[in-house]
Amino acid sequence: VYSSTFELLIAVILSAQATDKGVNKATAKLFPVANTPETIAALGEDGLKPYIKTIGLFNSKGKNIIATCQRLIEQHQSQVPAQREALEALPGVDRVVTLLRPYKLVSREFRRSDTVVPLGATQLGGGHFGLIAGPCSVESREQTLEAARFVKASGATGVRGGAFKPRTSPYAFQGLGEEALQYLAEAREETGLPVVTELMDPRHLDLVLRYADVIQIGARNMQNFHLLAAVGEVGLPVLLKRGLSATIEELLMAAEYVVRAGNPQVILCERGIRTFETATRNTLDIAAVPIIKARSHLPVIVDPSHASGRVELIEPLSLAAIAAGADGLIIEAHPAPETALCDGAQSLNPAGFARTAARIAEMVAWVGKTLG
Ligand code: PEP
Ligand code: MN
Repeated sequence: VYSSTFELLIAVILSAQATDKGVNKATAKLFPVANTPETIAALGEDGLKPYIKTIGLFNSKGKNIIATCQRLIEQHQSQVPAQREALEALPGVDRVVTLLRPYKLVSREFRRSDTVVPLGATQLGGGHFGLIAGPCSVESREQTLEAARFVKASGATGVRGGAFKPRTSPYAFQGLGEEALQYLAEAREETGLPVVTELMDPRHLDLVLRYADVIQIGARNMQNFHLLAAVGEVGLPVLLKRGLSATIEELLMAAEYVVRAGNPQVILCERGIRTFETATRNTLDIAAVPIIKARSHLPVIVDPSHASGRVELIEPLSLAAIAAGADGLIIEAHPAPETALCDGAQSLNPAGFARTAARIAEMVAWVGKTLG
C-alpha cells in the first residue's frame, strides 16, 4: 500500500450506529466507483482491502470512518459527484466528504474532531495541553535526572533530551546514543514523565523504540521520507518538527507520510523558520498555529527555544503560542545552562523554568485547556 499510487479523493464517513452490513455495502460500492476496470482487475478486491483497513485506524468507536474512495491520480475527477449521492443514500453512511487538499488523512476535511495523542499517562490535543521540557542533549546521568526532576516539579508533562543530535558541524557534540537513552529511561522511572527523543536514522529505530515514549523527527529530517515511513509503522506517537524552510503544506504532506503508513498519532511542531531576520535564531511563525489547526485535526505544539535562540524570549513566545491555540510547548531547560554542551543560550535554568511554567499554567487555564 505504501508504494501504491492511489490518491484519496473522497472519504465516506459512517455513522457510529452503522451495522456490519451497512459497512460492507458501502465498501462494496466503492470498488466500482473509484477505480477503472483495469485498476480493479490489476489489484482485485483483496488488493484494495488492506488499504481501506488502514483508514480504519481512525475508527475510534468502531465504525466512524471506515471506507474511502480512491482513484489513480491520473483518473478523471468528474466521475465522482454522481456516485456521491448514491453513497450518501446508503444506510449507515453519515456523510461523504470531498478531500480537496493534497494532504488527505491529516486534513480537517477527513476528520473534523481533534486528534488526541497520548503522552505517557496524560494527553496532548483536544483541550489537553502538553508541556515537554528538558535539555537539548543528554550530557550525563546527573544532568538528565536533575533536569527531569526540576521540570516535573514545575508541572511538565513530558521530558525531552537528545541522544542522537543533528549538528551543523561534524565536530560538535553528537550525543551519547544508547547511554543517553538509558539515562532518559531512568529519569522516566523516577519522575513518571514520558520521554521525547529524536530519531535520526531508521537503523536506530529499534533502539529508540526500546526507550522512548514519543519519537521526535527533527526539522532537518522533516522530508526524510524513508524515516517518515519507518515511524509510520510503529505504535509510538511521533513529534514532527517543521523544516527550517518548509511551508505549512510541506509539513502537512510530511505528516501524511506517517499517517498513511499506519500511524495516526502525530504531533506537529512549529519551531521557527529561516527568514532575513537576524535578531533571533529563527522566526517563530505564530500564524502557522491557527492555520494548521484549521487545516488539520492533528495537535500542534510550539518550540520557543529553537524558534528564538534566546532564553529571555521563551516566556513571551510560549504565552503567544498558547493564545494562538497551540496544544503544547517543547522547551529547552538545563540544570546549568551556562555549562550546556548544546543550546545553553536558549535553555531555561531551574528557577527560570519554574517562573515560566507558572505563567504557562495560568495561560493554559485562561484559554480553557487542561495541563496534561
Ligand atoms: C531539537 O529539538 O533538539 C532540535 C534539534 O530541534 P530542531 O530539529 O527543531 O532544530
Ligand atoms: Mn536544541
